[in-house]
Amino acid sequence: MRLELSPAVEADLRAHAREAHPQECCGLLIGILPDDFGAPQQRLAAEESLRLDNTWETETRGRRYQIDSSVFARLERELAERGRGVLGVYHSHPNHAAWPSPFDLDHAWPSYAYLIVSVRDGVDRDARVWLLSADRNSFVEGSVVQENAPCP
Ligand SMILES: [Zn+2]
Repeated sequence: MRLELSPAVEADLRAHAREAHPQECCGLLIGILPDDFGAPQQRLAAEESLRLDNTWETETRGRRYQIDSSVFARLERELAERGRGVLGVYHSHPNHAAWPSPFDLDHAWPSYAYLIVSVRDGVDRDARVWLLSADRNSFVEGSVVQENAPCP
């Protein structure tokens, strides 16, 4: 999977990750759903990001995130009305690498791009994107590219 981020989208979700530190932030990546959505070779272009509240209790927010499923369902309906959809979910890992945790694996849904931004001491570091494998037992890493970057 290749996830294209516009400079504005990348800047905003990185700012969100810094502002939430040392708690995890979370939000959605929005764009046009491709016909092959969920396919390993898909190309996703995030046109917008949308900040959401991490709904875990305060003491848990430093190591996991949760999105209200009713909010998610409502947003998907609203996006569909303007021909857009949820391409994926982003969240931050305060003082941890941008690799999915066992919790992330347990709670991931098929097809969505999971973008993780590592934040160390309030400074955002690398961002990596992950797609659940077909057997749902692991993640496959994709590539994060700036919009309009040449194909590798
Ligand atoms: Zn995580």
